[in-house]
Amino acid sequence: MLRIRNFSTVSKRLGKLPAFETVRDKFKFSSETSTIQSILQQKPNKVVLNGWIDAKPKKVGKNLIFGTLRDPNGEKIQLVDSQSFLKESQVEDVVQIIGELSEKKQTQQSTVNIEYELKIIELQKLNQANKKPSQLQDLKADDGAFPPEYRYLQLRLPKYQNNLKLRYEASKNVRTVLDSLNFTEVETPLLFKSTPEGAREFLVPTRGKIDGEASFYALPQSPQQYKQLLIASGVNRYFQVARCFRDEDLRSDRQPEFTQVDLEMAFSSGKDVREVVEKVITSTWNKLHASGTDLHTLDRTGKIIPVSGTEKIINLTYQQVMTQYGIDKPDLRYPDLKLMDLSEFKAYGYTNKEFPVFEVIVLRKAFETVEEFHRDWSYLSNKDNYNYRAPIVVPIESDELGTSWFTKFLPIAAFENPKLITKFLNLRKGDIIIGSTREPSRRLFENPTPLGRARQLITQSKRGKELFRKTDASVAAWVVDFPLFAPVEETAEKGSHYPVYTENAFSSTHHPFTMVNLRDYNKLESDPLSCHGEHYDLVVNGVELGGGSTRIHDPELQNYIFHEILNIKNPEDLFGHLLNAFKMGTPPHAGFAIGFDRMCAMLCGSESIRDVIAFPKSISGVDKVVGSPSTVPASTLDEYNIVSK
Ligand code: ASP
Repeated sequence: MLRIRNFSTVSKRLGKLPAFETVRDKFKFSSETSTIQSILQQKPNKVVLNGWIDAKPKKVGKNLIFGTLRDPNGEKIQLVDSQSFLKESQVEDVVQIIGELSEKKQTQQSTVNIEYELKIIELQKLNQANKKPSQLQDLKADDGAFPPEYRYLQLRLPKYQNNLKLRYEASKNVRTVLDSLNFTEVETPLLFKSTPEGAREFLVPTRGKIDGEASFYALPQSPQQYKQLLIASGVNRYFQVARCFRDEDLRSDRQPEFTQVDLEMAFSSGKDVREVVEKVITSTWNKLHASGTDLHTLDRTGKIIPVSGTEKIINLTYQQVMTQYGIDKPDLRYPDLKLMDLSEFKAYGYTNKEFPVFEVIVLRKAFETVEEFHRDWSYLSNKDNYNYRAPIVVPIESDELGTSWFTKFLPIAAFENPKLITKFLNLRKGDIIIGSTREPSRRLFENPTPLGRARQLITQSKRGKELFRKTDASVAAWVVDFPLFAPVEETAEKGSHYPVYTENAFSSTHHPFTMVNLRDYNKLESDPLSCHGEHYDLVVNGVELGGGSTRIHDPELQNYIFHEILNIKNPEDLFGHLLNAFKMGTPPHAGFAIGFDRMCAMLCGSESIRDVIAFPKSISGVDKVVGSPSTVPASTLDEYNIVSK
């Protein structure tokens, strides 16, 4: 049945049609205009400029008003008005100005263009702005955050215009590089099926029913399954700048919808994929990074070096990064900030037998006075900053404490030979030693460890950056050899100090389609947690910029993983499409996805992906500009077979 929405037309008019002249004038403009940059180069006498009134115009004489025009590129020029055009102007009015460019006379007031000004001959107001933008003016001056409902005012600022342009340049460059490597961009459906791939999904209700029950699509958390189906379909090298959706708790580097550069390669191994990704990333970085600095990595000795034709991005194993940095995405701009496992010195954690390793990190010359210590570092022992236990943080306030330091750790660790460690650590007044416990290196699932988290907090703090950061360049590493599965954590009781794992329950570290490292194949049955996966992450400056893996293309092995290890009861119903495709000649394949928003944020030198997304959601998932999500009438719910509680 065709449903036509009923809009009332003539019966009830609430408002008056605006006067013809006022509307007509808003459409009177010539679109062929110059930019401030071009007129400053060419210096014509008479110019036409479009733009916004940037700041409240000032009356500076009886018949003289000064104003500022900002053009669509964010450039500004001073306006000189002797005919009261600007008298009624508001900040953010949008105007077309015909004017005369002239060299500026010496004036004190000017802060914008020192040499030229524009004398207004004609001003056409193309749309007015109400008072609100001028009330928000201060935010603009500091490049601060406008209230989210005024995102369009924020986006008018040059910084955001540049970010959006850089994002576009990045997507062009990614496409160019992948095109040169014989990739084909293929779009995959956004209306997908609900499957337990990892994250929580967004459901899309349909009006149809299946066997009398409401039915749903799900928005894809990534095009993972479709891209594997494309490999089955004979697409040899696929990529897509793909929108993905995950209904998870939001943070500054997470949005419910985000963009990935998603790729997959047939007849390829993880190593082949890493080579391609490395080309894409290095080229994009070296062409577009706002600081102009090339992408760097570490060499074998831990020195920071540029990535080049011969110097590839370093491979670090999961065990290496977890034991040295306590986290699987270490910020390597701080190569010297390393954790030390004190087992060799016969010091052990004893408060939980699953967490016997006692590890420390030393911050050298980190404070001078006790006040300074409290000001700069007290957050390190704040429990709220940690998932479970906070580490013990000991400021070495005196040389004596440099020898008796270990007594402060006695509540969590036992020392067989403290003298030897003391000699090794060589603590001096002004140093800080931080210590905590962790699992053994071969079975380390708590990620980050308390010290890994402390290290992360240090690298993110202002003082930490000042004291310990070794470079302004971006430093990248591959993290490889992840465990294929992780134990499932029981919901932690408030205040618990250690994670507790459910017996015999496993989750995929990356996703369920990741291949096991063949050397561990036989352990899949006996000890899944000891198996390594063919999974790799690219980490830049402590951010996971992307991840991928070699996939399983054997239907029986895939079914075994779903059913026997991940305990998925009905893999045929959920993943039958993949299993069937694997039974019909799907080639071996591997792939990757680059977090495109994160990459763009880094390229712009910004901390938050919100800065590179035109209309991001707030931390609670709300888009205040349009007011989404919103409720819908009960009749609509009914149509979608949804009963609202
Ligand atoms: N689909 C994966 C993800 O979104 C990436 C991949 O394995 O290619 O993390």
